Amino acid sequence: MLTRRSRWLSTALAAVLAGGTLALATPAAAEPGTAQCSPNTGDVGAESWTDHAELGAALSNLAAQRPGIVTVEQAGTSNRGRAIWSARVGTGPETVLVTSEIHGNEKTGTDAVVSLLRTLSANTPYARQLRDRITLVAIPKMNPDGAELDRRGNDRTWGEVVRDFPQLAGAQPAWNYYTGSTQGDDYASRPGFDVNRDYNPDLDYVPKAGDFPGTSSRPGWYIHPESRTVRDVYRRLAAEKGGVDAYVDLHHQAPCYLDEHGENWVTMSISGQFVPDPRSPAGAKYAEYADRYDFDLSRQINVAAYDALRSYGNSAFGNITLYPQNQDLPGTGLGSFALNGSGTTLFEVRGQTQSWGAKKRGQLISTVERGLTGILEGLGDGSLHRIDPNRYNEIPETQR
Ligand SMILES: [Zn+2]
Repeated sequence: MLTRRSRWLSTALAAVLAGGTLALATPAAAEPGTAQCSPNTGDVGAESWTDHAELGAALSNLAAQRPGIVTVEQAGTSNRGRAIWSARVGTGPETVLVTSEIHGNEKTGTDAVVSLLRTLSANTPYARQLRDRITLVAIPKMNPDGAELDRRGNDRTWGEVVRDFPQLAGAQPAWNYYTGSTQGDDYASRPGFDVNRDYNPDLDYVPKAGDFPGTSSRPGWYIHPESRTVRDVYRRLAAEKGGVDAYVDLHHQAPCYLDEHGENWVTMSISGQFVPDPRSPAGAKYAEYADRYDFDLSRQINVAAYDALRSYGNSAFGNITLYPQNQDLPGTGLGSFALNGSGTTLFEVRGQTQSWGAKKRGQLISTVERGLTGILEGLGDGSLHRIDPNRYNEIPETQR
């Protein structure tokens, strides 16, 4: 924090010395409390978000109100026996899969998805037109056990993994197994895994003892019911539609990142890069996916979201930046599905529920929803495919 703050001050000072005005510093100052941005706002806020039972009620209401327009099904079951639902709307050729709350303390995505499903299923010319052009499948709250505990990991022991996959007896537990304290949550008495490293670009992969404990730059294993559910939905959808055009995964990041000029707190960071290009030397290990990987499409999707949010002008929906690039994360759904040919996008809005929490709830949900809407509209009217992928570089970087 000290480093960031002093950098901000020196940037503002430099602008004044260079003949600029204090206008540079004004946007940050205009937002209450940002000058003292802290990850500890004292606002837990988890209760004001949609919990698992409320999500189930919201989805079944929607399906009942819009029969034949919204289809909701139980796509899987979490380790602790909770339903994982998928909701589908639209019959168009452009296919979009959206997931939220793989990290159970990152909740805006779930509320944004429910709101988006409501808008898309409405009896309006806008919605009807979009439904003819796109097929949206959403898996909100895909890690319901973690979500109910308001924590990052799922609720599962290594012993339960071995029970389900006996061939792993004697293997070292996965590297992303939490058994201590993480983000203030006690995993010692209730262990869990970061499900966001359990994917594998080989959608038929079967867990092997020799592939453990693994690392962040190695593929995951599909050892959790939550990631297996998303994998199965993805695979079925790809088989039905000849591919999944876009995959969006909805997350939160720390609340106090600044944009590249150190002027404004970042509302949301986005990215389309999760593995090195299989055609590049760094991506040689992914060579078998080279024909399918489509970084241009990922970049176009990101620009569509960026443009949609920028169209609201200098508002609370601004301050969209790029998430750090040069990632090698084949164990994320984003990395794995990118290698299978989907255009992929990460949304990271500011603040976890145990820090920033509900304070900016409405604005952050709208930011996610508007970004998603930009992608759907761009795919729906074809304009997204005409975006110059190099405009991805226009998205400002994040000061981290
Ligand atoms: Zn996350």
